[in-house]
Amino acid sequence: MNSMLPDAFATGSAVCCLSLIILVVLVIVVIVLILKWIFSSRQTVVVQKENPPVNERYCTDCGRSIPMDAKLCPYCGKKF
Ligand SMILES: [Zn+2]
Repeated sequence: MNSMLPDAFATGSAVCCLSLIILVVLVIVVIVLILKWIFSSRQTVVVQKENPPVNERYCTDCGRSIPMDAKLCPYCGKKF
């Protein structure tokens, strides 16, 4: 009778250990899925972003488009 008790206890702890491993694997899978979702949404934001024109600017006095390296506005003569 005494030898039956430890066997039953060992089987119970093994089932408990297996369910714990399954729980940990499930948590890891959920974390990986969330990280994938975050990265995919970030990439969509980057693709939608537009680059502004880099070799053009606007005169602060008359508001016309002038070259980036111009030291003098060709339209109103304002110095920069
Ligand atoms: Zn100007």
